[in-house]
Amino acid sequence: MVEITCDVCDKKRPDPGKRLGNDAWILGYDIEMEKANSLQRSLRFLDRWDDSRVLELGAIHLCSEKCKDDYIRKARAA
Ligand SMILES: [Zn+2]
Repeated sequence: MVEITCDVCDKKRPDPGKRLGNDAWILGYDIEMEKANSLQRSLRFLDRWDDSRVLELGAIHLCSEKCKDDYIRKARAA
């Protein structure tokens, strides 16, 4: 099985078989699109975790709201 780690803090996602009541992990997409002459970056977050989509192109994995905020901040700064 695939090991998922947080894209901000490198924390490992717990085995989904052991369901923790409080699963705060967030799945999102970080996609770059070329528009006219500039590269546009688009960040999107799903309402809930979806194991079937974790390996899709541009998918990002975040363990908490805090890491999500950090990720957005870094993306804007880039
Ligand atoms: Zn994290």
